[in-house]
Order: sequence, then structure tokens, then C-alpha cells
Amino acid sequence: MARYTGAVCRLCRREGKKLFLKGERCYLDKCSVARREYAPGQHGQVRKKISDYGIQLRAKQLAKRYYGVLESQFAKYFNMAERKAGMTGENLLKILESRLDNVVYSAGFASSRAEAKQLILHNHFTLNGKKVNISSILVKPGDVIELKASSKSLEKFKTVFENFSSRPAPMWMNVDKDAMKITIERLCNRDEVELDVAEHLIVELYSK
Ligand code: SF4
Repeated sequence: MARYTGAVCRLCRREGKKLFLKGERCYLDKCSVARREYAPGQHGQVRKKISDYGIQLRAKQLAKRYYGVLESQFAKYFNMAERKAGMTGENLLKILESRLDNVVYSAGFASSRAEAKQLILHNHFTLNGKKVNISSILVKPGDVIELKASSKSLEKFKTVFENFSSRPAPMWMNVDKDAMKITIERLCNRDEVELDVAEHLIVELYSK
């Protein structure tokens, strides 16, 4: 499984936004975006005029990095979004939100999407009662994601729950933290997406 292996805080600094890629550290003063509000690298502090293409590219990179999706997968999601009825940009965000790793993270079962991906890969979850280890699966209303019985007593999950219990889960899912179970009530609405991105810029980029 291909994945980005570089320094993740650089990605946030490049986008000039917190992307919450590193778990607990993202909520502390140690966050690199909070400490250094400029892009990484030798020319990070140089102010440059950015072209329309550059603006569209940054919007796409922002969404891609926030959800931890690689280029080819992101392009597939865009094609899928285009084929659905409704606004392509909104469809794209809804597809990204319904990835299993995003659901596990948003429900508070992992401290970051990257950790959620890892936990799914290591077979800690079931989907509708069956083993699942593919983080890119798209959930649908009625799906039930549960921590496997043998994983429920693991110290790791207790710590994550304690640290992130104050983070509210999205309204489109029901999270039972005692049973360690997530039920998807419906697909998310555009106004429930926390990422601050102008999705029409992504559509413009792909429409060139
Ligand atoms: Fe981004 Fe988190 Fe690193 Fe801050 S600590 S720069 S939010 S990954």
C-alpha cells in the first residue's frame, strides 16, 4: 500500500492550515503551524504571487492531504463524484468523508486518520460483523463498524478514548463508546464537513 512517508507537519505548513495529521500533538502548543506560520523550505517566507492554477492546485492538495489520500485515488474519487447526481465538489467531499478511516477517526477511535488507517489494516475493526482491513472502503447508511472483541480491552484504545472523548462525533453517525460501535445513520451533508476548502476550485482544476 503506497503512502506518504515524509514529515507530515510540513504538509500543514505548506497549506497554511492545521490538517490534524499527528494526533495529540496537533492540539498542543508544539504544533508546527502555530509556531511557524510560513511554508517550509528555503523560500518558505518569500511572498509570491499565486496564479489561478496555483490556487486550484492548493485546494486539491489541501483536501488530498487532509484525508490522507494519494493522487490516483483522489482522481478516482473525483470521477466517481462527477458521475453522481448533484454538485461534483460536494459529492467529492461526501465520498472522502465516507471513507472508513475517516469514519474511525471522526468517531474518536483513533487520534489521526493515519492512525485509523493503521488500526484498520491491523484488523482491529469489523464492518457489519465481518473482518475488514481496507481503510478506503466507503461506508453507507446502516453500516455498523465495531472494534473487534479481542481489541476492546487494549490499553491503546482506552488512552485514545480518554484523550479524545471531548471531540464531538459528527451527527451523521451514532457512536456508542461503551460498546465501541459506530452506526452510520446517513451520509454527511456539506455543512458538516470540517475542512475549510473551496471545492469548486478542485472541480475547476480537474475540468481543465
Ligand atoms: Fe499539522 Fe498536527 Fe503537525 Fe500541527 S502538529 S503541523 S496540525 S500535523
